[in-house]
Amino acid sequence: MTLKIMLDAGHGPNTPGKRSPDGSLREFHFNSRVADVMRAELEKYEGVTVYFAHEQLRDVPLKERTDRANKLGVDVYVSLHANAGGGTGIETFVHPKSSAKSREVAKAIQAALIKATGMVDRGVKTADFHVLRETDMPAVLIEHGFMDNAADLPKLKDDAFRVLCAKTNVKALTQVYGLKRKGAELVENNDVAGHWAEQSIKKAIANGVMSGYPDGTFGVNNPMTRAQFVAVLDKLGLLDRGTK
Ligand SMILES: [Zn+2]
Repeated sequence: MTLKIMLDAGHGPNTPGKRSPDGSLREFHFNSRVADVMRAELEKYEGVTVYFAHEQLRDVPLKERTDRANKLGVDVYVSLHANAGGGTGIETFVHPKSSAKSREVAKAIQAALIKATGMVDRGVKTADFHVLRETDMPAVLIEHGFMDNAADLPKLKDDAFRVLCAKTNVKALTQVYGLKRKGAELVENNDVAGHWAEQSIKKAIANGVMSGYPDGTFGVNNPMTRAQFVAVLDKLGLLDRGTK
């Protein structure tokens, strides 16, 4: 299957107001980092094309964002934000007249984020936001915590939290849309079938820890370089401890 996804990092780097009260965080910096990690993660899946609604140097007007999504005919629109206005936790919005698919995506992302982050569950809500109303496809808007909350702000500024949110959003999307990891099909008709490590190899490929070769083999007896070894450690999440 193919899936065109538009990621919309809300606002721009210099949008007035959209920052923490102490000025230490600009909302766009959080939103765009989550978008960058989500794109990198999504591109590990077959048939996925990722578009950005935002740009790094200007605040793209909302109409321009949704016009482009409609023109490209993307399959799903995901708007990324950090909240403000008094409160704590995570909430995901759909339009009051949203499609069932929008609500399915929103519920999956909201539940996954709460499970992964342990933050307060503010639930799936409805709002007449431009990006939800003017998009012709399923659309959700995620508020990943409050910039004006003392507990949420340090998280929003923490790169590990941004990466966690991004990976969690992607995991939920891959489940809703049944996306397959690239290379996941390589385990058929190759040197893995019947091998003593077959099950482990299949798990490694399915989880994106290692991949096979384009010819369909895994290379069960090939040596591993030091560079490949640290890449595997990184994919297992073992290198992010204490490096914030
Ligand atoms: Zn925002």
